[in-house]
Amino acid sequence: MHKYIIMGPQGSGKGTQAKLLKQDFDLSHFSVGDIFRWHVQAHTKLAARIKRLIDAGELVPDEIVETIIRRRLDEHDWNYGFILDGFPRNVEQAQFFLESYGLDKVIHVDVSHEVTMERALARRVCGQCKLDYNLIFHRPEVADTCDVCGGALTARPDDNEEALRQRLNDFAEKTVPALNLFEDKGLVLRVDGSLDRDAVQRQIRTGLGI
Ligand code: AMP
Repeated sequence: MHKYIIMGPQGSGKGTQAKLLKQDFDLSHFSVGDIFRWHVQAHTKLAARIKRLIDAGELVPDEIVETIIRRRLDEHDWNYGFILDGFPRNVEQAQFFLESYGLDKVIHVDVSHEVTMERALARRVCGQCKLDYNLIFHRPEVADTCDVCGGALTARPDDNEEALRQRLNDFAEKTVPALNLFEDKGLVLRVDGSLDRDAVQRQIRTGLGI
């Protein structure tokens, strides 16, 4: 059983790295951002409270995030472990997690703000099958069209410069202190997120000893 958290700014590639780990180690991958986007698409009651914040790149209140995490982990459908992506984003969320759940390691995908900005602005997602693309590393064969299902590719509404700047500021001001808290407990594995996808994954597996 492995319990991991993966942290890094937007565009660091943490979602991609989490999915690679999930495949080979049968982990459940929980992305709080994906859960929120599902609510927005499904027009749930929660969506009305969070859509404006997400579109502006602002953080959703802790009590909502903690309820989502608790509900998801309490389903106990993660026999081989889990990898949490996009959580925690501040010290309060980190403390909540440490008080309630065990943790093997925090993977910090470290990358400069310039690189994250460039990569995040190049992200596209298929509106139909939700496959991720990136105009730098993984271009579609036909512009703006999904290679697999032919759906239209669009940028996430919060991948615009203003919202990205807000998220980067929040990362520096709120998320780095959470990382420091984990660091003080000897839980952090730092990897170089500026390397290519497979090299980052190798660093992670070597560092985790898996
Ligand atoms: P992400 O997909 O991780 O970039 O998350 C998209 C958006 O969801 C963020 O910009 C926030 O508005 C919200 N969000 C995701 N995770 C959290 C979290 N742990 N705390 C607060 N807001 C979050």
